[in-house]
Amino acid sequence: MKSLHEKVLVGIYREFEKWSDESLACEKGCATCCTQNVMITAVEGELILRYIQDRGKEEWFASKFQQKAGTRRPQFTTNGFAESCLQGKDVTPESYGNTKACPFLEGSCCSIYEVRPFSCRCFVSSRVCKPDIPALIPEYYLSASTAVMQIIEHLGQGKCMGNMLDVLLALCGISENKKYFQLLPASMSDQGLANVVKALPLPGFLLLEEEMGEVGSLLQAVFNCEIEGKSIEDILNNR
Ligand code: SF4
Ligand code: SF4
Repeated sequence: MKSLHEKVLVGIYREFEKWSDESLACEKGCATCCTQNVMITAVEGELILRYIQDRGKEEWFASKFQQKAGTRRPQFTTNGFAESCLQGKDVTPESYGNTKACPFLEGSCCSIYEVRPFSCRCFVSSRVCKPDIPALIPEYYLSASTAVMQIIEHLGQGKCMGNMLDVLLALCGISENKKYFQLLPASMSDQGLANVVKALPLPGFLLLEEEMGEVGSLLQAVFNCEIEGKSIEDILNNR
């Protein structure tokens, strides 16, 4: 059964999907963007592990890590970056060079599509990208995705966050996930744990005044969304 936080996460995914622009270039089978550079929170990882466990695919899951390339510890979380910006510090967003295909990519389709993390859901382009043609992401869309990622990080505050493969490995090391852990070399779980960081609370959004109309309506829809009779805003504020 999904935890309350997993249900909130699915509610956030749903509201973002309702809001997002259908006219972008992304289509089923287009997967140049499916690399090993995906950042997730522990709540997103827990949703993925539950999906795999419900389908009895633990061995399949463990085999995916044979395709894992080098990952590293992020320098900032999304909220950590936002906090530094709000304090007026001079920070530049990190860039990642790992372009190896995501292990969950099978025949140009995502094998965990239903539970794919937010970084995958929000990565879009207004032109078809190729290895030498990067994605072109509309500015308002980038701002909206960052704001929603900040909410997702806030939801998972105190737990781990980082590269998807490291977070999944780190989660496999905790007792309720022993089933996965036994199928993976212990050194891999240790590597995952070494590369994750702690998710932080929301310090405020990085939105410009002119973005508030378009992005504000999405944030309002997310905050108003009801899960088990409570709004996501109340759940996030422990009310
Ligand atoms: S972001 Fe680029 S590679 Fe990914 S689905 Fe969209 S157009 Fe295709
Ligand atoms: S999880 Fe799925 S959508 Fe995300 S990068 Fe991997 S294959 Fe692509």
